[in-house]
Amino acid sequence: MRYRTLIVSSLPAAAMALYPFMIFKDRELLSNRRVVRHELIHFRQQLELLILPFYVLYLFNYLFNLLIYRNHDQAYRNIRFEREAYANDQDESYLRRRKCWAWLR
Ligand SMILES: [Zn+2]
Repeated sequence: MRYRTLIVSSLPAAAMALYPFMIFKDRELLSNRRVVRHELIHFRQQLELLILPFYVLYLFNYLFNLLIYRNHDQAYRNIRFEREAYANDQDESYLRRRKCWAWLR
């Protein structure tokens, strides 16, 4: 998958996927395979939702979770897209065998 990388030192997270840009807080993260794989999983999620709906669903899922958990970290970690990404970002073969809409499972 082709993408462009940006370094933004003020980024509030280690990395972020805004297709087709993969944004990193620090240049060293470019070689962190787990971080890159995590963001590639988000690219796949974004593409299968035609990009914009991904962000809408992501935000609504976060806000819904915030009402339930009343805690930013728990709300963030339980966003469906993040659950898929964190559960599989250490698996080097995941993106090859990932099924479409895997974030729904
Ligand atoms: Zn993520």
